[in-house]
Amino acid sequence: MSDSPNAHAKWSKYKIDDEGNLVRGETCPTCGPGVFLAIHKDRKTCGKCGFTAPTP
Ligand SMILES: [Zn+2]
Repeated sequence: MSDSPNAHAKWSKYKIDDEGNLVRGETCPTCGPGVFLAIHKDRKTCGKCGFTAPTP
């Protein structure tokens, strides 16, 4: 059993949606498609317009 932290860290930037698609990030609801939100530990922010939302 390996419990290397790297094995999971690799996936920290990604998530899989309900249909099994790889989701790289969320786009800004204000700026629209093409502008991705920066995902932080407890929030996500847009560097362009300043949009901020808490992550679940
Ligand atoms: Zn924005």
